[in-house]
Amino acid sequence: MRIRVLGSAAGGGFPQWNCGCPNCRGIREGTVAAVARSQESVAVSTDRQGWFLLNASPEIRAQIESFPPLHPRDRRHSPIQALLLTNGDLDHCLGLLSLRESHPLAVYATERVRVGFTERNVLYRTLERFPGQVTWRILKLGREEALLGVDGRESGLVVEAVPVPGKPPVHLEGLMPPDPEDNVGFRIREEATRRVLPYVSGVGALTESVRQALEGADCVFFDGTFWSSDELSGPGLMAKTAEDLAHLPIGGEDGSLQALVRLSARRRVYIHINNTNPILREDSAEHRAVEAAGCEVAFDGMEVTL
Ligand SMILES: [Zn+2]
Ligand SMILES: [Zn+2]
Repeated sequence: MRIRVLGSAAGGGFPQWNCGCPNCRGIREGTVAAVARSQESVAVSTDRQGWFLLNASPEIRAQIESFPPLHPRDRRHSPIQALLLTNGDLDHCLGLLSLRESHPLAVYATERVRVGFTERNVLYRTLERFPGQVTWRILKLGREEALLGVDGRESGLVVEAVPVPGKPPVHLEGLMPPDPEDNVGFRIREEATRRVLPYVSGVGALTESVRQALEGADCVFFDGTFWSSDELSGPGLMAKTAEDLAHLPIGGEDGSLQALVRLSARRRVYIHINNTNPILREDSAEHRAVEAAGCEVAFDGMEVTL
């Protein structure tokens, strides 16, 4: 299995357009040891011919251009076989609307995420220009599904949607009651090699289902949004804690680093990193703590071969 990080930042990217936090200011001024990052998306392939995209970021066009294996090989063609959505947040699905050039798409998501994206959304009509433009393949919690290419061919990958603590997207708050299908992680398995890739880029707490999803992993991608609970509220950027936003912090006694360090996975990678997170600065104590624990900080263009 080949994994390519197309985007590694949380919603807003790094730097974020309206943010003047020390990280964002520092990267604009060239005074911090860090690299810019686009919003989270990862491409996965078994044969390096067809690719599956985990999440569709608002920066999808540039992300596709940044990685030649995703370029067309004919006058009208895409190696992208399907897209998988972890939730309905706009930083994870807005990119779908950018793939509007009359191309058949397959999308894997829970029914909740499908309904949240398609219903009462007049913009979705851009993906309904011809019958079958989008094929939704509905993921049921706890059930494995074969990942199929656009032509219906099996890819050799299977995915299980794992319920992880999250919340409905901001634009649907108050319109739909919270539901376990609002936010999922993926447990992706390659049948030929038996390699297991849990992909949990947004997780509010370490529940039993999250722990089970991580078991026996060869490589884990995990929520690296915030280092600490008060990362936004402390400096007055927002009145909410990391947990209010359904993201378990990395640091602290109950943070995710203490849990990831105990896994036997060969690679443990933090992704969906918010621009305020000190792990973005390669010379920070927090970045060193992540590395000392045997974990990695994802960056755009990172590759993992399993
Ligand atoms: Zn996000
Ligand atoms: Zn910032």
